[in-house]
Amino acid sequence: MPPVLCAICHTERALIKRPKNHQKLCKACFIRIFEDEVHHTITSSELFFRGERVAIGASGGKDSTVLASVLKTLNERHGYGVDLILLSIDEGIKGYRDDSLETVKRNAKQYDMPLKIVGYDELYGWTMDQVVETIGKKGNCTYCGVFRRQALDRGAKMLGIKHVVTGHNADDVAETILMNLLRGDLPRLSRSTSIVTGSDASAVKRSKPLKYAYEKEIVLYAHHKKLDYFSTECIYSPEAFRGSARSLIKSLEKVRPSAILDVVRSGEDMARLVPGATSDSCGCKGKTPSSHASADEDNVGGCGSANGQATGGEMAAMDRQLRENEVAEAANLETEITTTKTTPAPTSTSTSNGHRPDKQRIKERSKPGTPGLPIIPKQKLGTCEKCGYMSSQKLCQACMLLEGLNKNRPEISI
Ligand SMILES: [Zn+2]
Ligand SMILES: [Zn+2]
Repeated sequence: MPPVLCAICHTERALIKRPKNHQKLCKACFIRIFEDEVHHTITSSELFFRGERVAIGASGGKDSTVLASVLKTLNERHGYGVDLILLSIDEGIKGYRDDSLETVKRNAKQYDMPLKIVGYDELYGWTMDQVVETIGKKGNCTYCGVFRRQALDRGAKMLGIKHVVTGHNADDVAETILMNLLRGDLPRLSRSTSIVTGSDASAVKRSKPLKYAYEKEIVLYAHHKKLDYFSTECIYSPEAFRGSARSLIKSLEKVRPSAILDVVRSGEDMARLVPGATSDSCGCKGKTPSSHASADEDNVGGCGSANGQATGGEMAAMDRQLRENEVAEAANLETEITTTKTTPAPTSTSTSNGHRPDKQRIKERSKPGTPGLPIIPKQKLGTCEKCGYMSSQKLCQACMLLEGLNKNRPEISI
């Protein structure tokens, strides 16, 4: 059988089947199209401005490592003129963060970027190990997630930086959309679809440049670019509901690869039905941060993909397979495209950039004032009485959690 040629350059042999649309590509073309798509996301939503200082929320995991690498590449290739800094949070989880922080330190050297590490202990007076000691393992990801979001903000503020980018990928966004849909939480669903969150009340804006990138493609990119990342997963398990949503997304992807982007698009469409929402679709239109987005409540419930265990080790397995393929290749064996073995999907309407041509249909569906739609009160945003962080309640979530924790703090430390 003659080798399959790359669908883009038609000269090199195809070695990668894109998880997103099963397009068969050579390594160089895969890397290039992955970068081009992130570039499209960035430019179409006008994510950065020249001279902007941007902190990359860096965990040492694959998502944030790929984000740092891609942003460095694109910043140089397209002359964004942004000043990139790595910002890491030390949750205080022994045997987990210690090692991943070493990875981030190496990344800082590899990418020639400054690195700032902020600890939960200095920010909250509690390490995650101490939290788990007090409340047990159940629900601790809620604490971790709430604390981390504020930690990134506070760390950014310390550095005088007003924009934090995170490595959230399409799988993460789809998972959050699904969770909010299943909970019937339309306002939060609307927020979770935004590429940019932040509000007038917050000095720090957050965005997700990898919002349309598949987790599997992030693994492939990291592998083929030989990036140095930390792959051990968080030792504390995520909440069951998020885990279930994650498994559901992965199952859907198996039978229909476009499902992840379809869920993201559907989430964006639904978000437009929420009064006052300014959610974007691929960022091509709305670039205003959703004004009522309370970052404090966004993404509650966990570590996100960088640490989530609920993938059932699927990404780790994929990583292993990629390495094995490489060994086979080195041994000059016939290598087939074996990165994913899913059944062919029904023809997807998504193009490689995830654009859906049927905009008309979306417009028709999202006519305002559709009867039967619930009126959702717009949330009022204030600031936390205790710490000044933006919050729709008297106390922000972190301060509420801390209040409970401090009540339960044992008199004598163990
Ligand atoms: Zn090619
Ligand atoms: Zn607070």
